Amino acid sequence: MGLQYAGKLAHLFAMPHDFDDPDHAHSVLPPDPALRVKALETLLERKGLIDPAALDEIIDTYAHRVGPQNGAAVVARAWDEPEFAEALKQDATAAVRDMGFYGRQGEHIVAVFNTPGQHNMVVCTLCSCYPWPLLGIPPSWFKSDAYRSRAVREPRKVLAEFGVKLADDTKVRVWDSTAEIRYLVIPERPEGTEGWSQEQLAKAVTRDSMVGTDVLGAQS
Ligand code: FE
Repeated sequence: MGLQYAGKLAHLFAMPHDFDDPDHAHSVLPPDPALRVKALETLLERKGLIDPAALDEIIDTYAHRVGPQNGAAVVARAWDEPEFAEALKQDATAAVRDMGFYGRQGEHIVAVFNTPGQHNMVVCTLCSCYPWPLLGIPPSWFKSDAYRSRAVREPRKVLAEFGVKLADDTKVRVWDSTAEIRYLVIPERPEGTEGWSQEQLAKAVTRDSMVGTDVLGAQS
């Protein structure tokens, strides 16, 4: 955003005392990011550049329809239906699309299955690529410089900080997301879930377990 434009936005919402110090451009901006977003939204609406209904639709999608509950449903089904797990291994994008999960940042999904011998962990070293249709918007730690650099350099140490302790002979495989490929970790099915319905199973799946920074303990 150009400084001039930012200044105009700020004038819409700022109080007079905000303009006391003309040498400090930041002092004329509303301090709260939400307020800045609202200012931008209002201005774009007034100029007829955006449709408020379309904006509501987008917000509703990311607030309610897209999130880790979708990924959890995929994981639960993979645990419960071996043929679905196989389909997921062959072509995860198609398999999850059949469940109604597709869209931006989910154009090419790859499912990686944890086994007793291999733990999978996902990072985007370049930025913050993440399978939005399955997990929603990435958490801030996933976008942090520390996670992005350390996940590849010292994955076991990072996992330990997340409280994940792996057996010494379990390999850790780190998958680096790209603009094209987004990974979904299929955690191992926890003990104590024999005979559970897919709905029950889905509730046992944590978001972080699908990124690989959590493992699921025995359920009771
Ligand atoms: Fe990225």
